[in-house]
Amino acid sequence: MTRSPSWLILGGVMEYLILAVVIAVVAVAAISGLVISGRKKKRLPPPPPSSPTVTAPPAEPHVGEEAETPREEPRRTIEEVDLPGAEAQAATAEAPAPEVPPIEVPEPSAGRLVRLRARLSRSQNTLGKGLLTLLSREHLDDETWEEVEDTLLTADVGVAPTQELVERLRERVKVLGTRTPDELRGLLREELLHLIGTDADRSVHTESGVGANGGEKPGVVMVVGVNGTGKTTTTGKLARVLVADGKSVVLGAADTFRAAAADQLQTWGERVGARTVRGPEAGDPASVAFDAVKEGIAESADVVLIDTAGRLHTKTGLMDELGKVKRVVEKHGAVDEVLLVLDATTGQNGLVQARVFAEVVDITGIVLTKLDGTAKGGIVVAVQRELNVPVKLVGLGEGADDLAPFEPEAFVDALIGG
Ligand code: GDP
Repeated sequence: MTRSPSWLILGGVMEYLILAVVIAVVAVAAISGLVISGRKKKRLPPPPPSSPTVTAPPAEPHVGEEAETPREEPRRTIEEVDLPGAEAQAATAEAPAPEVPPIEVPEPSAGRLVRLRARLSRSQNTLGKGLLTLLSREHLDDETWEEVEDTLLTADVGVAPTQELVERLRERVKVLGTRTPDELRGLLREELLHLIGTDADRSVHTESGVGANGGEKPGVVMVVGVNGTGKTTTTGKLARVLVADGKSVVLGAADTFRAAAADQLQTWGERVGARTVRGPEAGDPASVAFDAVKEGIAESADVVLIDTAGRLHTKTGLMDELGKVKRVVEKHGAVDEVLLVLDATTGQNGLVQARVFAEVVDITGIVLTKLDGTAKGGIVVAVQRELNVPVKLVGLGEGADDLAPFEPEAFVDALIGG
């Protein structure tokens, strides 16, 4: 069968149409495929981060680089840091607490000598027990009395008081006749008390009064003495005694020549909450003392304690300086006490010092330190005679509360074991 030409033409057109449709379908498919693949691409998860490149190890930090290191945390504003919010509180809780030493409560001053009596008895055995043993001999001949004298002299009682005591004792023992140990102890007790004196005013005067400008002024106490006697320690211990007695205290570190003295005093003060006024090292001691009293007046403190420079008394100029300190302080008003600190272990040398200090300032009371370390308790008698000033305080150890008001009865009882 043969095809007609119209069929041929129709067949050719159809072929073209099919071809066009196929092209169109392929084109549409291609375009839609592109679109789909594009959409899919957009939905794909981001590519994993590329693995870190291995670089050279971080260089050792150099001194000073810390400041250059960029801060990783955002800076906090002052408000954020300072506000007592929870975050700030948590930060505070983590930080180590600054060490603020607690204020100590010193031991009351009354009865301290009784507490410290054992220390006195230990060191003064030679005197008290020695005397009792001698007086207990059946025959008290001249030789025995000489031994009594020697015992008193060895204990630093001093020549005149020793002779006086021996004379009185000889007389009374003669009158007594036979003696029991108790009678002897009673006798010796009375005679030692007579020598030391029971009538003197031994209180440390710290009452406030009227100052030079008519206003109220704290009690002012100057503490003087040669370096090494325990002057600064005594000032610190005395501050504790006063605080224990309910007084507020300002300390004046006028020993500007001994490098550590001001620090030492300040530490004593901080322990009981007393403020210390200090000046520049090697500065003018009189001006520090003046400022301390000024501060005491401004603060309405009860007492101002002034620790002074105590270089050797042989340097006349320096001793004159002590007089100047007192005069300058007196511009504020009267100085109520000038306490001379003497080291009981230095014996006769202490008496020489006492004499020189007394020429420069009016000593109103004596503090005998280191009585725990000597058998020479007789210095109490000797120094009172020398200056005609009472012993007011005694140091019986290095402990903070080892400074006691001097009580003649407790002292003598410790000596002879009453
Ligand atoms: P300053 O140079 O006179 O101020 O002397 P310090 O106050 O620095 O004291 C000198 C030394 O004496 C220190 O080691 C004190 O602890 C010591 N000291 C002070 N008073 C006494 C005391 O009563 N007994 C004893 N055993 N030592 C004391």
